[in-house]
Amino acid sequence: MSPESVLCWSEDPDLAGQLVRLARSVASGPEDRVFAASFDPPSDDGSRRIAEAGAHVLIRPNPAGPASTDPHVVASELRALVDTSHVTLVLLGSTKRGREIAGRLAGLLDAPAETGVARVHLDAGAVVVEREMLSGNALAQETLIARPAVVAIMPDVSASSPPPTVPVVQQVPSTSPAPLSERLELRPKPSGGVRLESAERIVTIGRGLQKKDDLVLIEALATALGASVGCTRPLAAEAGWLSDDHWIGLTGHRVKPRLYIAIGVSGAVQHLVGMRDSQTVVAINKDPNAPIFGQADYRVTGDLYAVVPALTKALDAK
Ligand SMILES: Cc1cc2nc3c(=O)[nH]c(=O)nc-3n(C[C@H](O)[C@H](O)[C@H](O)COP(=O)(O)OP(=O)(O)OC[C@H]3O[C@@H](n4cnc5c(N)ncnc54)[C@H](O)[C@@H]3O)c2cc1C
Repeated sequence: MSPESVLCWSEDPDLAGQLVRLARSVASGPEDRVFAASFDPPSDDGSRRIAEAGAHVLIRPNPAGPASTDPHVVASELRALVDTSHVTLVLLGSTKRGREIAGRLAGLLDAPAETGVARVHLDAGAVVVEREMLSGNALAQETLIARPAVVAIMPDVSASSPPPTVPVVQQVPSTSPAPLSERLELRPKPSGGVRLESAERIVTIGRGLQKKDDLVLIEALATALGASVGCTRPLAAEAGWLSDDHWIGLTGHRVKPRLYIAIGVSGAVQHLVGMRDSQTVVAINKDPNAPIFGQADYRVTGDLYAVVPALTKALDAK
């Protein structure tokens, strides 16, 4: 079987390091090689960390400014590296940007691509991937026969820690592709400053809340519990009552707190995907047939405008 040559890239240095470790566990033959692409200077902390994870880092200076601003530039530069380093497998992060670049790169290479991949391994020369489908309710196993293959890996996929290697960082000339877009302005997204993925307790509010001002009820309960506030998609994406970093579910954050309190949340499958790893679930809903009750350890059938203040009062009195 011919040796594997894996190329990793992510705009996030931590994720790039994860990809390198994964690549080294997937391509562990004596002649296999793991490369990582970087558009940062060799002295950059990110480049150094990727090299320490065990990749041969190929640095491409990008004359058109920060490469991350133009997916076409990144995909074209990666495509050139695939050619010059005889790459058989490209691993990208399955972030929004990573998925966009995966599609562009696969188009340039006429290669198969998979995104949202949870696991990857090689079997008799073919790339076998597992990815979630049907809103996370099923795992699809697929084989990519043609090479090179492009695979975008979900963040936080674990890989065994391979033995340390001597870091190698090499500068290679840029192919200088012309950008197809230009960034005019960079404005930080409004953020509630929460990081739900690591929260131990979460109080989540759904469309059962009638108006934005009533969020104070939910915040008071969260404060009494030392919890973070989460929400369903309509509250962030449609109403804009909370920022996106509160949004839990298939297209939001995936959480696994010890305590999850769902208030005025119906329990749509797209929401459940994001919270089903919670340890203890409490649901408060006025509809006794709400699907969220099927996921709950403790069910409170009632009006949130009565139940939530009473609960907060009881907690504050302790
Ligand atoms: C492609 C796609 C991706 C999606 N991704 C996500 C996602 O990531 N996250 C997500 O959350 N959704 C997602 N959705 C939307 C999802 O399908 C649901 O529409 C959404 O989760 C419903 O939000 P909700 O439970 O707040 O509202 P509703 O479904 O409207 O439920 C409101 C609930 O509040 C209860 N209620 C009303 N008044 C009171 C009261 N006074 N006291 C107590 N209970 C009360 C009602 O009985 C009801 O059960 C996605 C949809 C699609 C198509």
